[in-house]
Amino acid sequence: MTSVGILGTGRMGGSMARALAAAGYEIVCWNRSPESATALAAELGGRTAAWPAEVAQTADVCISMLADGPAVEAVYEGANGLLAGARIGNVLVDSSTVPPATIRRFEIAARQAGAGLLDAPVSGSVSLAASGSLTIMVGGEAADLERARPVLEALASTVFHVGRLGSGAAMKLAVNAVIFGLNEAVSESLVLAEAAGIDRSVAYDVLAASAARSPFIDYKRAAFLEPESEPVAFSLDLAAKDLRLISALAAELDVPVPQAASNLAVITAAAANDRGQRDFSAVAEHLRGSAQAKEGRPA
Ligand code: NAP
Repeated sequence: MTSVGILGTGRMGGSMARALAAAGYEIVCWNRSPESATALAAELGGRTAAWPAEVAQTADVCISMLADGPAVEAVYEGANGLLAGARIGNVLVDSSTVPPATIRRFEIAARQAGAGLLDAPVSGSVSLAASGSLTIMVGGEAADLERARPVLEALASTVFHVGRLGSGAAMKLAVNAVIFGLNEAVSESLVLAEAAGIDRSVAYDVLAASAARSPFIDYKRAAFLEPESEPVAFSLDLAAKDLRLISALAAELDVPVPQAASNLAVITAAAANDRGQRDFSAVAEHLRGSAQAKEGRPA
């Protein structure tokens, strides 16, 4: 049986591990805070590893799903890092949303160890991860992708090979430029309709049936309509991280991205005062609160 390593058992890593276990893969997991890896391994009948290097030594395909670039570097590099355990037969796959340069810095060490290396970020949130319906965009060598493909296809409806190492990371930032635009647009649209006296759920139904209809509008329904009870899927803090990465890549490539800059300003304001762990759909609540404060109504 192919065993799959999961490094980072947060919202996405945990959901991806569940989809892979449901597809019959043996799971080996590691997390910086060990409690969540222990609980996940117990739930899935899998194993935990003490260090990232041990994941590479025991699992064939090793998928990291971590918060940001510094987290990925910490997990790959160092005495007990993933690269220290890399061997012939491994494919190391980073699915985190990070700059394209992050995966490229590991290329020489991975090749020297005889391991494959891919960046394979994902589009789709926790629910699509758990059901194996993500979209995955891969950068790297075609031969490495073919070795990892059965595992990636257990996670995704569609797997795209978009180019050389780092291209998946760049494509993911391009996709998220649209997602953050949609999140801002839905938030503004709802608050505008509500201010005009239209019931929020009626307004959402109309949006979901309009020309603007999209998978994002379908799967974020509960987050926008029942923000108090819906679990967080993607935090404002991670959204701000992604928007900074979009702006940095655009500056490097000398491309104008004014919408990303304006979305970052709103997301940053919504995350102020320790509210960064709320779901990024809380932009709607932030705009609602601003509108009510202007009119002197209680927020
Ligand atoms: P999350 O629930 O906050 O999990 C973050 C994970 O990163 C945790 O396992 C955390 O470990 C680990 N981590 C953070 N800093 C670390 C460090 N310095 N060293 C080692 N591990 C570290 O986040 P998530 O929502 O699963 O997102 C994970 C990645 O997927 C992010 O890059 C995000 O942008 C991307 N993504 C998310 C979604 C979504 O809808 N949530 C969709 C597509 C892509 P601890 O448990 O020890 O803190």
